[in-house]
Amino acid sequence: MPLTEEATRHHDVAVTLDGMGVDYGKVEARIRAKDPKVGPRDIYWATLNQKLLAVLRVGDWGSVARILEAQVDELVERGKPFLAVAQEASKAELRRLNHAGVTEVRIIPYPSHSGPCSACVANRDRVFSIEAEIVSPTLPHQTCVDAASGPCDCWYAAIV
Ligand SMILES: [Zn+2]
Repeated sequence: MPLTEEATRHHDVAVTLDGMGVDYGKVEARIRAKDPKVGPRDIYWATLNQKLLAVLRVGDWGSVARILEAQVDELVERGKPFLAVAQEASKAELRRLNHAGVTEVRIIPYPSHSGPCSACVANRDRVFSIEAEIVSPTLPHQTCVDAASGPCDCWYAAIV
């Protein structure tokens, strides 16, 4: 990887983590002290995992969902399987809503979704029980998942 590309990625990663309240520089320094050859992607992944454990411990489901989504993006970029992680992100978002008193949700198809997202559109008017969805989330639909670009951006909305 050329140095400039590496540097750009490094910057993007740091900004993403900063938005999550993670001090990338601190984690990087600690990991590099053990292994100076570790690349930015591995440090990014390790940092996400560390943050994930911390927010799981306190039951901050909104943050859990965001970190899992970031991991899905990373897995997609690396060409690795991501469906299970995407489902866990859905579950975390549903738990967040449930803790806020929501008992039913619907699926909102992402407005600027490039291709036809037929499964999400077909489910638009359905009402889902949040308890059932936490056990077995409808999102991401298997048919809306693309190996190259990841799951669609359609998402849950609370029915209040
Ligand atoms: Zn969709």
